[in-house]
Amino acid sequence: MTVKRREFIAGLSAGLSAGLMVPAASWATPGMSGQLTLGEMQVTTLSDGHLTLPRSMLFAGLDPDAVDQILQAGGIAAGPIHPPLNVTLLRHAGRVVLFDAGSGPGFQSTAGQLTAALDAAGVALEEVSHVVFTHCHPDHLWGVLDDFDDPLFPNAQYLMGEAEWDYWFDPNTASTISGDRASMAVGARRRLEVMEERLSRFDDGQEILPGVAAHASYGHTPGHMSFELRDGQQSVLIGGDAIGNHHVSFAQPDWAIGTDQDADLAAKTRLRLLDMLAHDQMQMIGYHLPKGGIGRVESAQSGYRFIPALGE
Ligand SMILES: [Zn+2]
Repeated sequence: MTVKRREFIAGLSAGLSAGLMVPAASWATPGMSGQLTLGEMQVTTLSDGHLTLPRSMLFAGLDPDAVDQILQAGGIAAGPIHPPLNVTLLRHAGRVVLFDAGSGPGFQSTAGQLTAALDAAGVALEEVSHVVFTHCHPDHLWGVLDDFDDPLFPNAQYLMGEAEWDYWFDPNTASTISGDRASMAVGARRRLEVMEERLSRFDDGQEILPGVAAHASYGHTPGHMSFELRDGQQSVLIGGDAIGNHHVSFAQPDWAIGTDQDADLAAKTRLRLLDMLAHDQMQMIGYHLPKGGIGRVESAQSGYRFIPALGE
């Protein structure tokens, strides 16, 4: 199942205007953050705000009644979906590391709040030493540049998976990607050009920083990466968008999600990760999961369940 051409960006634009009128659900409260400690690692999630996406985009091709049932069971109000945006901040061994950079000023009006969240957390932009990217979608990448298209974090090194870089840096991608996603490709390429000099690339399985291992989780985008943070026995998986919401993706992980570029591969990846997280009782952080995004995965009667660390 794939999202029809034009629907994706049409959905984003609709979300942009709807975002001004529709109040966020309580779990999408901007500024909501979570915290956990793994040995010497201090991990905090910072809110970049939230997106507003029409159901027709996220759930294109799925049976609307079946989707409604899952959303209602999760207490989600009718109308557009408001995915929160959780940027992870890691403080470890003198480094200040961000996982993704948020949406920046030009994407949706309810997003782009990372600078305010960093300020509230007492982190100066100059202190950020590394920005690690899960993938190159606007809500993860575009915040790397400020209003003047200059790097927001003047001293940061960038790290990105090789396959993700290759795909979005290729100037042909804007014409080969489905039409509705062309503007994302153009936007990504423009930013990667500015970032190139300070960017290093890595592969699946590589330890990219002490205690941080890259974990290929392709499908949402061609080179999407997740990251396992580990200190001693304790670990957490920063899953990015490999598990992109806490309702349909948990209850029916094999269903296609409209924001996944290769929906079949993304579903396989999602199932593999959910199975691992539930089996190993490993903590996870989801970029679009509620209550700051930190929690655990449990098997449920149908699929899986997200158990936020911050509780109900
Ligand atoms: Zn995303």
